[in-house]
Amino acid sequence: DTLVVDLEKRFPGGPTVRAALELRATPGRVAVLFGPSGAGKTTVLRCLAGLERAERGRILFHGEPWWDAAARVDLPPQRRRVGYLFQDYALFPHLTAEQNVQYGLAHLPAAERRERSRSLFSLLRLEGLEGRGPRELSGGQQQRVALARALAIRPRLLLLDEPLSALDAPSREQLRGELRRMLRELGVPTVVVTHDRLEALALGDDLVAMEGGRVCQVGPVADVFNHPVELAVARMTGIET
Ligand code: ATP
Repeated sequence: DTLVVDLEKRFPGGPTVRAALELRATPGRVAVLFGPSGAGKTTVLRCLAGLERAERGRILFHGEPWWDAAARVDLPPQRRRVGYLFQDYALFPHLTAEQNVQYGLAHLPAAERRERSRSLFSLLRLEGLEGRGPRELSGGQQQRVALARALAIRPRLLLLDEPLSALDAPSREQLRGELRRMLRELGVPTVVVTHDRLEALALGDDLVAMEGGRVCQVGPVADVFNHPVELAVARMTGIET
């Protein structure tokens, strides 16, 4: 039950992102890609989703190749069946909350679409907001609608890009614990990108510390915070930065 990532991506005229790591991807387990701006976190997340491609390497989910440059394997995003939460949530502004959640389910019978969105509205405590447009929702509600949309396809892997950064400080603090509880309950293996130390501590089981396009350390969150193996990790996990 592992997620194996080994990739090298060059940006022309820019940096190269290199990431080789193996994570446990079991139900409800959360891995956090953590590090400062420019570390390469989003690049890894987008490669996992199939939204972006690297030049060299491979990605294996539970032993299944999702992408392998040498073997020319490249599963399209829908066949990987990943749920992706964008940093700004990217809800469709002209659709209601319910229509947003059902957006990826057009291939299903109407009754099944309704049933899936009904259970997600209840699970994420969004009842009563089905008919609202994104602009009529608070930041936290938008986040939960976007999460419901990512979950509606019953993803094998959930990918969250800075899930709380669009919120104001008080909501961010309040939702940190709540998001952790939701992720445990949902029972989907999850990878979260964040530059926020408190968020990494609150959400993660495993931590991938990244800086300047490389992986510095991988391990259980407490291990990495308590025993950084290099200065860069000590700096990003330390209180003083
Ligand atoms: P941030 O939180 O700022 O997004 P990050 O850790 O997610 O940081 P990435 O977005 O993965 O970092 O970017 C890693 C590096 O690759 C950065 O130096 C960035 O400038 C560069 N980069 C990312 N996308 C591109 C692109 N399309 N073209 C050129 N360089 C890019």
